[in-house]
Amino acid sequence: MERTLIVFKPDSVQRGIVGEVLTRFERVGLKIVGTKMLQPDYDHYHQHYEGIGTLKTRKGDEIFESQLKSMLVGPVIAMVLEGVDAVETVRKMVGSTEPKSALPGTIRGDYAHVSYGAANASGKSVSNIIHASADANEAEQEIAHWFSESEMYDYEAVHEKFTQPKNS
Ligand code: UDP
Ligand code: MG
Repeated sequence: MERTLIVFKPDSVQRGIVGEVLTRFERVGLKIVGTKMLQPDYDHYHQHYEGIGTLKTRKGDEIFESQLKSMLVGPVIAMVLEGVDAVETVRKMVGSTEPKSALPGTIRGDYAHVSYGAANASGKSVSNIIHASADANEAEQEIAHWFSESEMYDYEAVHEKFTQPKNS
């Protein structure tokens, strides 16, 4: 089983769509093993987006700072989800970074539509509902950054007999 981090960004918390979006992950059988609401500070996001996510290195100072600013406007809900190839499964469900390019059926495609161009013109980063770890290495580092071991739980979900079939 693999674990991944998702973060409901301030836009989804403030729009009141956390429950709807979370339902999608539960429906495919991903298991919530940790969750909390919090309002992290600049340093926490600096480590998340640059120390781990290399956003400043990849996209430059302007996008990096505007992204941190947009995360700092309010609380977020962070979760650790577990499942078969959870990182890839969740990214597939989340869709492309730019809502305009995100396909219908994906979370970013179904709940947002803004383009990079429109966001940049207003000096903002794109509001795209949710963060999800990009790969297994990022997931491992992000989970350790956001959650302590004691904040994650081990239990059996009823659909594990379907998602984790055992040889009989
Ligand atoms: N972002 C942005 N403009 C860009 C690139 C990124 O506004 O050109 C924001 C966007 O909110 C994105 C976050 O910065 O979700 C992190 O960027 P990353 O490239 O890691 O995309 P993600 O992994 O979230 O799809
Ligand atoms: Mg990323």
